[in-house]
Amino acid sequence: MKFVKALTYDDVLLIPQYSDIKSRKEVSLESILGPGLDFSLPIVSSPMDTVTENEMAKAMAKAGGLGVIHRYNSIREQAELVSLAWGSLTDTGPNNIVAAAVGVTGDFEERATAVCDAGAKIVCIDVAHGHHSLVKEAIGRLKSVHGDKLHVMAGNVATADGFRALESWGADSIRIGIGNGSICSTRIKTGFGVPSLHMVLECAAVRKKAKIVSDGGIKNSGDIVKALAAGADFVMLGSLLAGTTETPCGLGMTLDGKKFKTYRGMASKEAQEEWKGSYSSDEGVSATIPFKGSVAGILHDLKKGIASGFSYAGARSLKELQEDALFIQQTASGFHESQTHIFSKA
Ligand code: IMP
Repeated sequence: MKFVKALTYDDVLLIPQYSDIKSRKEVSLESILGPGLDFSLPIVSSPMDTVTENEMAKAMAKAGGLGVIHRYNSIREQAELVSLAWGSLTDTGPNNIVAAAVGVTGDFEERATAVCDAGAKIVCIDVAHGHHSLVKEAIGRLKSVHGDKLHVMAGNVATADGFRALESWGADSIRIGIGNGSICSTRIKTGFGVPSLHMVLECAAVRKKAKIVSDGGIKNSGDIVKALAAGADFVMLGSLLAGTTETPCGLGMTLDGKKFKTYRGMASKEAQEEWKGSYSSDEGVSATIPFKGSVAGILHDLKKGIASGFSYAGARSLKELQEDALFIQQTASGFHESQTHIFSKA
């Protein structure tokens, strides 16, 4: 048995540093996944059935980020969603890149070929425990069929060992995050997981060339800045983008004049029953959350918050942020002070 102390986003703050940035316009949030895959916003939308289909993928691309279209549909339906997202994108935004998710068993190779034929430039091997022999085989199969021109994102992993393994198996980018999602009950059900910030720091320390996508547990732009400063190239978001117009689910109930939408874990009973007809071990929950309007507004606010974060570090780029970042651990009182606390005064 081994015991390691690990921290997450709320346990730390970034220390402000000397800056000569006169306008936040001088700050670039550019991040690169690979050749021809550069993004002006380092945000990826999660391949979940209440987050990313064609409308979200289009909105993400228009904002300079990336959408990963979920795989909880037929191959034909997913390919159609990719072409719907991609086919109108070419002249509307800073990039026209769409990604699509696949599993590791059954028809995953056929699915990968179909989404690539439909225009996906990135295939995301999307399983809960990525440090697994089936992921090794799946990366190998996709690389042998499509060659290096296909960018393979894979995951999820939570450890340096897991990261090193997926990198050596050929993954071009790796999703880091187990048990940290807002709708996730993996840690409660199984006892397994690693605090988010610790996962990123560990993986960044051993990374050779694979890109890091910090996935899950991100609650605000401050957490995004911390993830990027710790070594992530991108963050993947579920809950922050859920409940917007562009998510695949329709508007749900209205209560006291307020509208709501669904956001659910892909391992929740509800999602499993819908996609498989039954459920095995459920490790997620389904939530009803307030409708937030267009995702463009959410992405705009996140972008401004991240750029402001870079400027507190005196950093004009992701590289400068990662070189200069200084974390400090905070106490419970520090965390309390860090929250807007006027409303909690007696
Ligand atoms: P959030 O941004 O904190 O809401 O986390 C979203 C992430 O949670 C996704 O990108 C997945 O990695 C993860 N996730 C999605 N569904 C489930 C689930 O049912 N159980 C555990 N994790 C999940």
